[in-house]
Amino acid sequence: MTLQEKSIAIIGGGPGGLMLALILQRNGIKATIYEREPDDKNMERGGSLDIHEDTGQLVLKEAGVYEQFLSKARFEGEDFRLFDKTGKIYLDEDADEEYGARPEIDRGELCALLLNA
Ligand SMILES: Cc1cc2nc3c(=O)[nH]c(=O)nc-3n(C[C@H](O)[C@H](O)[C@H](O)COP(=O)(O)OP(=O)(O)OC[C@H]3O[C@@H](n4cnc5c(N)ncnc54)[C@H](O)[C@@H]3O)c2cc1C
Repeated sequence: MTLQEKSIAIIGGGPGGLMLALILQRNGIKATIYEREPDDKNMERGGSLDIHEDTGQLVLKEAGVYEQFLSKARFEGEDFRLFDKTGKIYLDEDADEEYGARPEIDRGELCALLLNA
């Protein structure tokens, strides 16, 4: 039996399960997500996830949703400011799309994006 003929069960519809399902779907492999919550709780579970260049961003590219991710991602989390107790600023770096290696996205936003895809 080839991988395409198999049916795969994924336990949990969080960011991990949704991402895996999308990657499998893009490769023509059937998968079913089993989620214990009766309805989508991802928005309520909040929290901001930082998506790293060498891990999370790679898989978003692989799944073809990287541009959508960029439209919702926040880069300001990587702004860096160094100042003393008087407020004198010694270093002031504003992160932007080129500079930021791990932009943030709300967990709910990421899950909605993956689910819609
Ligand atoms: C306090 C805290 C702070 C964090 N801060 C950050 C941060 O700043 N940046 C960052 O990137 N990451 C952060 N994380 C990590 C981030 O939350 C996880 O990386 C991410 O949620 C993992 O996704 P997941 O889909 O693997 O698991 P989860 O998000 O845990 O999703 C699992 C899903 O599986 C379902 N489920 C569980 N058991 C079953 C079952 N038996 N049957 C069916 N469904 C089931 C659950 O209902 C849930 O929907 C933080 C985590 C915590 C707890």
